This record gives sequence, C-alpha cells and structure tokens, in this order.
Amino acid sequence: MNLSDDIGFLTGVGPKRAENLKELGIQTIEDLLTYYPFRYDDIQEKELNEIQDQEKVTLKGLVVSEPVVSRYGYKKSRMMFRMMQDHAVINVSFFNQPYLKDKIVLSEEIAVYGKWDAKRKSLNGMKILAAKNDGEDFAPIYHVNKKVRQSSLIQLIRTGFEKYGDLIQEILPEELLEKYRLMPRKEAMFAMHFPSDPEESHQAKRRVVFEEFFLFQLKMQGLKRQEKAEKNGLVIQYDVDRLKTFTQKLPFELTAAQKKVTNEICRDLMSPNHMQRLLQGDVGSGKTVVAAIALYATMTAGFQGALMVPTEILAQQHMESLQQLFDPLEVRTALLTGSTKTKERREILEQLATGEIDIIIGTHALIQEDVLFRRLGLVITDEQHRFGVNQRRILREKGLKPDVLFMTATPIPRTLAITAFGEMDVSIIDEMPAGRIPIETRWIRPPQLDTVLEWMEKELARGHQAYVICPLIEESEALDVKNATEIFEHMTAFFNPTYQVGLLHGKMKNQEKEEIMQEFKENNLQLLVSTTVIEVGVNVPNATVMLIMDADRFGLAQLHQLRGRVGRGSEASYCILVANPKNEMGVERMKIMTETNNGFVLSEKDLELRGPGEVFGARQSGIPQFAVGDIVTDFNILEVARQEASAIWKKEQWWVLPEYRGVADKIKPNDGEQQFFD
Ligand code: ADP
Ligand code: MG
Repeated sequence: MNLSDDIGFLTGVGPKRAENLKELGIQTIEDLLTYYPFRYDDIQEKELNEIQDQEKVTLKGLVVSEPVVSRYGYKKSRMMFRMMQDHAVINVSFFNQPYLKDKIVLSEEIAVYGKWDAKRKSLNGMKILAAKNDGEDFAPIYHVNKKVRQSSLIQLIRTGFEKYGDLIQEILPEELLEKYRLMPRKEAMFAMHFPSDPEESHQAKRRVVFEEFFLFQLKMQGLKRQEKAEKNGLVIQYDVDRLKTFTQKLPFELTAAQKKVTNEICRDLMSPNHMQRLLQGDVGSGKTVVAAIALYATMTAGFQGALMVPTEILAQQHMESLQQLFDPLEVRTALLTGSTKTKERREILEQLATGEIDIIIGTHALIQEDVLFRRLGLVITDEQHRFGVNQRRILREKGLKPDVLFMTATPIPRTLAITAFGEMDVSIIDEMPAGRIPIETRWIRPPQLDTVLEWMEKELARGHQAYVICPLIEESEALDVKNATEIFEHMTAFFNPTYQVGLLHGKMKNQEKEEIMQEFKENNLQLLVSTTVIEVGVNVPNATVMLIMDADRFGLAQLHQLRGRVGRGSEASYCILVANPKNEMGVERMKIMTETNNGFVLSEKDLELRGPGEVFGARQSGIPQFAVGDIVTDFNILEVARQEASAIWKKEQWWVLPEYRGVADKIKPNDGEQQFFD
C-alpha cells in the first residue's frame, strides 16, 4: 500500500466514481487526503423556542417543498421553500439570490443561516451551510461538483485516513518543525479536514501552508539558479541605433519609469541569461509601448517576437496599436487567433516558419500545436496568462528558449511580487504619463440610478461614449446573460432613439463580439452594455463614463481595471459605482474606490480589508495559484519560507542529506522538466 495508490483502491470507488473524482483533480490517495476544504462553517444549532425575534441563527432541517422563485420589480426576486425541524415547519426565503435554487433539494438535509422572524415563524436566509456531521461544530466545505457531493466526499476522506493514514510521513526537516513549532504532517493533514476546535484548525493550516510555500520556493529557486548558471539563453544583439531612432519617432516622450524598465528589459535581451521578467504597471501606465520597443529590438537582431493576449478583441487592438507605432514597411506583423480562416492561417504558419513574419500577435494558440518559428527570440504575454512550466516545456520541445516578458496591470506590492513569483525578475512602471486628468469616481445606491442616467445623457450629448458593466454571475451563465440583457433593455428604453445601445456578453460568438466592439469604436454605438468580457485592455479614448452595476460584486482589483477603460483621452472621465453593499466592508471598499486612483494604494488597502478567500485579482495577474496558502493573508509565512528555502540552496548538494530527503523527493522534477539536482 502506498499513498500514490490510485483512488480506485478504496472500497466504494468504482471506475465511474474514480472518473468523477478525477474531475476534481483527485487521482491518488494522497490527492484525496490533501483535497482540503476551502472553508469551515460554524454550526451551532438552537431550539426554535430559544430563539429571539430577529436573532441570527443556523437552523437545520429537512427540505419539504420544492423551492419557488418569484420575481418582481427591476431585478428583484424571492426564493421560498419550507423545511421541517422537529415537526415544526419553517418558511425560508432568500432575496435576490435566485441561483441558490439549485442547492435546495427536496427531502435532503439543509442548514441555513439567517435572521429569525418569530411572529411569522420564518427564516430570512442569508447563507446556505453544509449539513453537519454528527459530533462536529465545524463543517468542512469543499469545492465539489454535481457528481461528487460534500457528504460523500467527506466520507471518502475518512475512509482514506482509516486505511492509509499511517503511511503519512514527515517530510519537513526536524529543525524547521522545531523552529516554527509546526504540527506534524499527519496530524495536520487530518486536522485540516476534521478540526476539533478553531485553534487546531489554525495550527493545521499554518503547517500546511508553510509546507506548500516552502516546496514552491525550493523548486522556484532551484529553477532560477539553474537558468542563471546555464547562461544558455539567447543573446539578442539588437541594433542600438535603429532602436534609438524608433523611440525618438514615438508620438510622445517616454516617462522616466518607462525608460527605466525598457533599459532593464533590453539588458536582459542582450545578455545570455534567459529572461524571465514580470513587468508591472497600473492600467494606462503605458506598457504597450514598452512591449513594442522590446519587440522591435528583437526584430533588429534578426529574431522573431510574439505577443500573446487573452482575448481576440485584445489581440486585434494590440495589432492596431503596434502597427501605428511601427513603420509597416519595416516590420512585418501578423495576427493569429482562433478565428483566423484556415487558408490565411496556413499562410501565416508558413511565413512564421520561413521567418517572413517578424512579429506575431495573437491568443494562446500562438505558441501551441503546429505553430513553428524560424527564430523565436521573445515572447511577451499580456494579462491573465500564466506563462508557466507547461508553456515553457512546449517551447523547449520545439527547441526554443526565447526570453519571456510577462505584463500585468495588477498592482501587487513589490515585496509580495518578488516573493510570490519566485523565479522571476520584476520591473515596475510606477508613474503615469503626464497630462492625464484623474478619473472621478462616485458611488451611488441603486435608487439614484435614474438620476445618474439623466446626467449620463448630458455626457453623451457632448459627443462622448459610455460603458455599462454588469457583473458576471458565477453560479450561472444563463442568468448572467439574462441579467445583462435586462440591463440592456433598461438602458435602451432610457436612451433610445437619441443614442444607440449595444450589448456584449460571454455567450456571444467572437465575430459578433468584434462587430459590436467595432461599432462602439466607430461611435455608431454610444453606450455599450457588457459583462466583464471587456475587462482587459480595450482602448476607446472617446469613452468617458464607466458605470458599474452591482459594483460590490467585484474585487477592488477588477473595479480598478474596469475604471482604467476610461480616462484614456484628453477629456475628464467618470466612474460610477452602483452598489448596495450588505456590510461594513462592502461600504468601505466602495469608499476607497472613490478616494484613490492609485492601484498600489488600492492593493495595500485591500490587503488590510479583504476577507479570506477573496484573492486580489490573482487570477488576472498570473500569480501562482496555491491550494491552501494565500499569498496575501499568509504573506509572512511565504516570506519565511522563501528565506528558509534560500538558506537550503546555499548548502552543497543539500538534496543528498538525509534530513532533506523528504522535501527533495517532493520537488523532484517530473519527466520532461528541467533537472536542477546535479
Ligand atoms: P497599459 O497597457 O499600461 O494599460 P497603454 O499602453 O494602453 O497602457 O497606454 C495607455 C495610453 O497612454 C495609450 O493611449 C498610449 O498611447 C499612451 N501613452 C503611453 N505612454 C505614454 C507617454 N509616455 N506619454 C503619453 N502618452 C503615453
Ligand atoms: Mg495594456
């Protein structure tokens, strides 16, 4: 028996079940035992007659009626069902969360947290909790899907521990366990699932997070040392004179910050080190032109460059801005996305292989599959892409080892960036081009919406354009579209026929999206209602108003990104947040947005404010995703782990020492990955 045994070895796990578990990423026993809950619900039930009117409580019972959703007013809804607790039937209602309907299953146990209305004998639901297991006050809550349910997963984890628990061995060196008073591995793994009290839960998590960060740092630092030692990166001997001419011809003078980062990047290009650099700069700080300079430099050295972006719209737009900057006769560019026609695609691939194309812009498909380069020297990725181990492997398999520049607008404090990215160097653009008029941000409550629309009408009358953003409803794509459509209709009713309104959402075909975007760019549409598909990088300088509906549903980073879509021209711009926050923190977040335009200040504030689990734009920024650790709230642990890992790498051949065998084993490179143990 071994922890790496297939999950199918457990009794009760047949092929079908194993397949379902695999969808959650659980393949081995160890995967199962380390599939940790993302939160714990504190469930302390009360008797009905003990509860005061308007008291907040958790009630548990059996669902005895199908949930019914009724809708009223603009976007309002109420979902009702009945549950039975000790022969008493209780009405439960949830307001404006119709998507919770799917969670109410007839004849199943349910636990609801909410406010008790004693007179009506009803519960005004606030949250659905997991049903409690016997004898536990903390119910672990896991990310599950329709095929694997919470209760059966918990049962399986229990069985896993019963059969395999004794095989769990310590991997961290004794010295670190003592120094940081860390819980032993086996105990911690068990307590992550079944904590007996909050303190035990806290200690278990501290240990697990340390281990996760420590292994990550050991591995990353290993890779970095390797890269540095090899000096087998490309030497991109660019033409300094041509580059100078190019920057002098730009329509503006580079800011000091742009100059600084450009120098850092150019130094990397020229050196035999393999560049792995993160370029950070707030929205609108002018990253695109820096990318253009780097790509141009690469071309003058006879290499090809690629710019990879997350969406087709963005690819299209980058293509346009680069062509404006480049002299089209001198630089041969091409656009390659998922919707490039077969024939054209074939031609482009051919020209990439022969080297007729200097710079290619496109989506993820760029570096994959059958795309071959003659002499790829630089890959730049913009937003949302984690140019990770996988991509690097793909390129290596093609015999390529280009320099890599990774651009992000997520303002991560510098210390955090350096630590979290481990293997990367960091460049920061920390100033805005001169002459920008700061965007004015206002927060309003939903009832004031029509007043704001009247004001917007005046902005449109001055020839400007506006965005209206509807939040993505994660629970349901259909609902998401419905919501956006409703807002679209509301706006159309208000602004038509004087102004034209367009709608953009995730369910639309790419071509449709592009057409709408184009219409908006050409000012045939004055108002664009959209879900967050436009989130990254769209550039319409004539747009001066950004209206964000249900703004409290967005993270601060996202709001800041969205706000950056306006204020790109010479006119005063506005960001209006429509929100009815449900708690103090929500109110605080809206206020902060109105108080600062500085992404770095925002991110620091967010650090102070945020609740656990709400990651500061990590997904967009490409920060490595950790299973348990949170680079923001657990930053201290991350920093300690970095220092300890660095100390270990200073020891000669540390991986052969007995005390490090456990960790060395864990970070051993897989087949096809780079070897750094030699
Ligand atoms: P980012 O990608 O960092 O959000 P962009 O590269 O799209 O920002 O730049 C935003 C706008 O600022 C663009 O219209 C660009 O032409 C302009 N810009 C960039 N650098 C400068 C500069 N040094 N001076 C004036 N305008 C600039
Ligand atoms: Mg950009």
